[in-house]
Amino acid sequence: KINSPLEAYKYLPGTNCGECGEQTCMAFAAHLIDRSKDLTECTPILEDKFKKKYEELDALLAPEIREVEIGVGENVVKIGGDDVLYRHKLTFFNQNALAYDVWDTMDEKDLVERVKYIQDFKKFYVGNFLTVDMIAIRSTSDDPKKFAAAVKKVMETTDLPLVLCSFNPEVLRAGLEVAKDINPLLYAANKDNWKEIADLVLEYDVPVTLFAPDDLDLLKSMAKTFAEMGTEKLVLDPGTFPTGERLRKTFNNFIKVRRAGIEGDREIAYPIMAVPFTAWMAHDDPVSASYWETVVASVFTVKYGDIMILHSTEPYAMLPELHIRDTIYTDPRKPVTVDPGMYEVGEPTKDSPVLVTTNFALTYYTVESDISSNKIDCYLWAIDTEGIGVEAAVAGGQLTADKIKKGIEESGFDLKKDTSHNTIVLPGLAARLQGDVEDATGANVLIGPADSGRIPGWMEKNWPP
Ligand code: SF4
Repeated sequence: KINSPLEAYKYLPGTNCGECGEQTCMAFAAHLIDRSKDLTECTPILEDKFKKKYEELDALLAPEIREVEIGVGENVVKIGGDDVLYRHKLTFFNQNALAYDVWDTMDEKDLVERVKYIQDFKKFYVGNFLTVDMIAIRSTSDDPKKFAAAVKKVMETTDLPLVLCSFNPEVLRAGLEVAKDINPLLYAANKDNWKEIADLVLEYDVPVTLFAPDDLDLLKSMAKTFAEMGTEKLVLDPGTFPTGERLRKTFNNFIKVRRAGIEGDREIAYPIMAVPFTAWMAHDDPVSASYWETVVASVFTVKYGDIMILHSTEPYAMLPELHIRDTIYTDPRKPVTVDPGMYEVGEPTKDSPVLVTTNFALTYYTVESDISSNKIDCYLWAIDTEGIGVEAAVAGGQLTADKIKKGIEESGFDLKKDTSHNTIVLPGLAARLQGDVEDATGANVLIGPADSGRIPGWMEKNWPP
């Protein structure tokens, strides 16, 4: 394993040819270490004469936790692939995959409706839609024919990747026959069925989950056996016991497995599966079961569930699961930004206000949402503050009168010609820039509210100026 650009540089051709998009091999090496570029982007190293160096460097750059792919084409989901235990030490790379379940004893109409609901569930948040990743099909019938029919129906309804769930190898074989071309994840091999499941895995070349509840020695020994048999497309399920003292034990098991993998134990360095649903709880109290499933899913999103099979599809269960995932897997090295520039909200005219904000995505979308939901037509100016919010950017010098003037000039927007009022509205938290912005731009400057939720009330009293 290598950790510095200098070590990676030694394996590169060293010609500084620029074909990777970088001016020097050293610059490219730095991108390899932070994984913002892939080794295959250095086309010269793919030539035969560098084959050995390529293979050596490729192995040295491989993440500690193996990366496993589920699905095919543009919907493929990658899990695992991490190098660190703590996000601030680098970042977490592949967000955990959320697979919501259906079962093969469902009425066909209900099955299709549930699959569509899961597939279409989305929430707009900070410039992106949060969505879910997979459908897990459980065999509750234990009947190969019924399972195959359910898999077929799900595949006719969605392109999402699948998890095929049964401990019966014949049931899984029937499902695989239908889904063999879309690289589903099998769930699961255990101490009783592992030989038959291993045969399936090798025959169909698909990823598989190994299930050894609360027995890490067995889990490791199964992973070692599967690797020796020729597959490393493995996911480890150490069992999820969602309540009481056993939840603590589960939590410790997840940490033990991940710590061992990150610290170099290759035999157990695979993605981890969590299954947070509590069926017995659902029987007595479905609402509490959904609530608790979400709590447990959140715990294992933080540490270290790379993939989960989930059951509850109520918005109050799915939204927190998606949000905590988005938070944990946001790259701490990159501020979340929007492109700087002038945005039109609604259908602004020459009489509409010009509001200034920063290009920190959370600020921008909060302001944009407060304006658009109140049907205010305006120009919204996202100044490049390197992704820093208003108050901190004013304090840190990323939001200045000169920056605002430069932003205006670069956007091509002419306050005098394109508006009837030659006025800029600064956020309340940037009030101290008022005089400087007036001097720098020659525009009138009004101070808006500190909280964008108050823009509608402010508009009533202050607009037109
Ligand atoms: Fe160096 Fe390869 Fe980039 Fe060329 S393409 S500059 S050889 S890293």
